[in-house]
Amino acid sequence: MMWPTPMPHHNHDLLTVLLRHGNRSVPSSQQTWLWFFDFDGTLVDLAPHPDAVKLLPDLTDDLIRLATAPLQTVAIVSGRPLRDLTRHLPSHPALWLAGDHGAEVRGPQSFVWRHPSQETIEDEANTVALDLHTRVKDLPGVWVEAKATSMSIHYRQAPQAAIVNLNRILREYCWGSTWVLKPGQLCYEVRATNGPTKADAVRVIRGAVDPQGTSLCLAWGDDVTDEDMFLALPTGLTVKVGTDAAFPTSARFRVESVATVREIIHQMARYWTQS
Ligand SMILES: [Mg+2]
Repeated sequence: MMWPTPMPHHNHDLLTVLLRHGNRSVPSSQQTWLWFFDFDGTLVDLAPHPDAVKLLPDLTDDLIRLATAPLQTVAIVSGRPLRDLTRHLPSHPALWLAGDHGAEVRGPQSFVWRHPSQETIEDEANTVALDLHTRVKDLPGVWVEAKATSMSIHYRQAPQAAIVNLNRILREYCWGSTWVLKPGQLCYEVRATNGPTKADAVRVIRGAVDPQGTSLCLAWGDDVTDEDMFLALPTGLTVKVGTDAAFPTSARFRVESVATVREIIHQMARYWTQS
């Protein structure tokens, strides 16, 4: 399916597009829809600490309604490790979950997948996380979150001078190594160059749910790492959360905020479950 360009960058228009494609009075309405949502900054607002995020109860209900509606599949694709992600999400057999930027995927009927290079990268990632911790531990408000195959270095509460220092330390550390530095939302991501990305999660889930590749894929995310999802879905409906032009995107739509995403999910959950 081709989308017209330029796409409207307005959530009302986006909802109109979605409803038009969901028109159940035409035969193409038999098309399955495959929703990919990033978690932090997409389904939940960022909080001073990653543990403090709150998935609103209404959104939880809407996600489950959408995930169990006919023709709909819902996947949450996060940078968080699965064990962490599952502490914040409802445990529901219909939901697909991908953690650690596509290193691990879990789905209905005990579906489990791990990125083939995960184990090799895991050992090295441990060492890198310890190294980085040593280098940044004296910077106020900065801390390293070690994940299985990558790490996030958070600076949500750091003063500007510490952030500048952090950037320098990380650039020096990654330069010429097999580790790459990516800016995240109020954090830096350090990832193996040959490691998993969210595109892996998209491919694995799509391969399991929609082997023919005929689904309408909808991907939503606010981060640089979500660009991998957008690029993996060149004919999909891809949506960047955030309208700041300083953050370029290959997504076809932009929406303003997490609240907009929530509202659209609410409308679509209603739409797909109305009789
Ligand atoms: Mg995010």
